Amino acid sequence: MPEPATRPRVVVIGGGFAGLFAARRLAHGPVEVSVVDDTGVHLFQPLLYQCATGLLSEGQITAPLRRLFRRHANVTTLLAKATGIDPALRTVTAVRPDGTELHIDYDYLLVAAGVEQSYFGHDEFAPHAPGMKSIDDALSIRRRVLGAFEMAETLPTTEQRRPWLTFALVGAGPTGVELAGQIHELATHTLRREFRTIDPAEARVLLFDGGAAPLASFGTKLSDGATHTLQRLGVELHLHTTVTHVDAAGLQVSTAGGSSQRIDARTVLWTAGVAAPPLASAIARATGTGQDRTGRLTVQPDLSLAGHPTIYVAGDVMSLDKLPGVAEVAMQSGLHAAGQILGQIQHGRTTGTRFRYRNLGSAAYISRGQAVVQAGPLRMSGTPAWLVWGLIHIGFLTGYRNRAGALLSWLTTLTLASRRELVFPRRDLDTGDEAFTGTHPPGGPASSPHTDDTP
Ligand SMILES: Cc1cc2nc3c(=O)[nH]c(=O)nc-3n(C[C@H](O)[C@H](O)[C@H](O)COP(=O)(O)OP(=O)(O)OC[C@H]3O[C@@H](n4cnc5c(N)ncnc54)[C@H](O)[C@@H]3O)c2cc1C
Repeated sequence: MPEPATRPRVVVIGGGFAGLFAARRLAHGPVEVSVVDDTGVHLFQPLLYQCATGLLSEGQITAPLRRLFRRHANVTTLLAKATGIDPALRTVTAVRPDGTELHIDYDYLLVAAGVEQSYFGHDEFAPHAPGMKSIDDALSIRRRVLGAFEMAETLPTTEQRRPWLTFALVGAGPTGVELAGQIHELATHTLRREFRTIDPAEARVLLFDGGAAPLASFGTKLSDGATHTLQRLGVELHLHTTVTHVDAAGLQVSTAGGSSQRIDARTVLWTAGVAAPPLASAIARATGTGQDRTGRLTVQPDLSLAGHPTIYVAGDVMSLDKLPGVAEVAMQSGLHAAGQILGQIQHGRTTGTRFRYRNLGSAAYISRGQAVVQAGPLRMSGTPAWLVWGLIHIGFLTGYRNRAGALLSWLTTLTLASRRELVFPRRDLDTGDEAFTGTHPPGGPASSPHTDDTP
């Protein structure tokens, strides 16, 4: 085995499912690995909505990358945001947390930077309708949801309280459905006896989607079941409906029939679309790689970039055979890309092996006792699916302590209807604004274009 100094250097951009699984495999090879991530943690995104609604803590759904690789001396973790690459010099340019620039040399590169929330060209909606991609997003949502109940409790009239007790969710995919179910559960179980002026159970949860059904990717039978469950819970489904405007006080929607409606809702949450991060475009320009409609990088069947056999792409940011942006694709593609890199280094392979995705199925939580699961020909819903959903998520959560902690939190919530993580930051994490007033503290960051929210 070569000495460490002469070992090939592999840079992995992103420590999500694709980057983590790749780096774990590379850690056992004769290489020096640098994992560059702009958060420094591996985040289990499928449980973000439970963190946002106070069921799980930030710590229970994350694991510091540095800690995960503490036993692998050949893996270095760097907290930095990659901004571009120079394929001729084989260098990644990144920005440190203090804004200074950093250059990292590589022999092999794996891009696994995931995707970002997309507002379909309406980025002006973002300050009023946080997406759900990061811990910051989850805490912002927690602040808005719990803060809305607090605001309503202080207001004298039903008319004034109503917009604060109206929660509008955009996007009826798994994340929107899961979030709707959790907000409903929060209102009807967790907060039931904790307020004196308002009845939290009177909260309205509205779910908007331009398509014909919630959880459409699960097929007609499970989607119909999800519609039935959501309606039974009291979640108001608005299908064939497009959101045309969002501001601090609510949203404007238009239906397929052409009618337009204004809805007063002080909490609007966005779970509708994704787009590749700016880094993908920078890499596309530097390498001459194509991008799909959402900006994801088009890869060769072996996951390398055409004409660049030392650069690989894995996970959500790769575009190949219309594969979905799900955790299984990310994990399997990360492992495959790492295998290709090690194959070149250890066995001198020059031709790549095609990536073949094994679809192990998918699952979505709707409410307590209700979930949907599909795996091959198997379709499940109701309590059995809910149990399977729990097993899958505990199984994939990173770290034994996180698994034990999540299990304990779930059992406590089920038996006592209480949630531990109900603390929320007073300031908006995105804008720095003081909660609910739209004003920013002296010395704080400039205010986003909020209207004055003061009641
Ligand atoms: C709310 C939510 C719920 C989901 N639920 C499910 C589910 O139930 N089942 C399922 O299969 N999938 C689910 N998914 C999708 C799944 O989480 C993703 O497919 C998966 O996380 C993709 O892994 P990835 O490694 O490609 O990207 P990510 O997990 O997004 O990781 C990318 C990493 O790269 C970092 N990064 C980004 N840009 C840079 C940069 N420029 N420089 C350095 N670092 C960077 C990010 O901070 C992040 O750590 C869900 C996603 C979300 C958001």
